[in-house]
Amino acid sequence: MKLISVFTLALMFLIPSAHAIKRVPVKMAITVDDIPGYGDLPHGVSRSEVMNEVLAVFKKHEVPGVYGFINGLKVSEPGAESDSMMQDMKTWVEANYPVGNHTYSHIHLNDLSVKKYTNDIKKNEKLLEEINCGMDWKYFRYPFLNEGETLAKRNGVRKYLKNNGYKIAQVSISFRDWAWNAPYLRCLKKNDQASLHYLEQSFLDNGMEQLNRARVLSKGLFHRQVKEILLLHLSSFSAKMLDQLLTKYEKAGVKWIPFSEATRDPVYRKNTQYLGENGTAFLYQVMQSRNLGAENFGLSSFTSFPEEDLKELCSDIKKDYKF
Ligand SMILES: [Zn+2]
Repeated sequence: MKLISVFTLALMFLIPSAHAIKRVPVKMAITVDDIPGYGDLPHGVSRSEVMNEVLAVFKKHEVPGVYGFINGLKVSEPGAESDSMMQDMKTWVEANYPVGNHTYSHIHLNDLSVKKYTNDIKKNEKLLEEINCGMDWKYFRYPFLNEGETLAKRNGVRKYLKNNGYKIAQVSISFRDWAWNAPYLRCLKKNDQASLHYLEQSFLDNGMEQLNRARVLSKGLFHRQVKEILLLHLSSFSAKMLDQLLTKYEKAGVKWIPFSEATRDPVYRKNTQYLGENGTAFLYQVMQSRNLGAENFGLSSFTSFPEEDLKELCSDIKKDYKF
């Protein structure tokens, strides 16, 4: 028997069945990137309404210690839109939710030197100090979850963060919730009910799929259920779906905890040395740094993220959809 087969066989015995893993309770924190708002809005809906909708759902589900992550650029352009977004930031903080650093201008580390990147982190600090009312804002969330394409960059930025009192805000569950917003707006405009229904269903399905994958990877990589950290964005579609998503998660055994507690799980202290063109969630970084693939844990190499559908649905690209 080849070595790889023996290894796969050993993992099959070590990893409990997906059914058993689904029953293990999960402590999970929620983080929201690109506040006070991501993407375009439906006609007649304001950013403040989206923000209030999201905060009301968190309140209903009693989600403690949600962290938002902001790019100061969004609220720094002089004008009415900035003023209104600044007001929304105050609403967020009044809900006792802190705001962490996501760079000033949502930059990609691959495109820049360590110096330019860390200067952009620094540029965001004045705003964070002002709006957080004494709450701990020294968490850094990498835009695009990208931690650099070379070790020199990866570790250069990490050194800066450590020297300046930052903790890295890792993510363990991301299902690219933001990607549903643009097709949602297109389908809304066309009043295409079948497509809107498909978007809702596929959003929830992908959210559940990533929860289940995270559970399997957690058990497979660390032999226990780690504290999970979910990444969402403040888009109008994510806001619309949030109540249903959180209800589904709760039914699947999720208990909400503050981000500050989840991020103290010792697994997140690990520097995976992951290098990639694209960023990825922490559990996938660990998996790849051990030269393993999803299939080693009985998972498909591909997720059912409907990339083509989200691009083409309700667009002018001709495709005959039959749901
Ligand atoms: Zn972002």
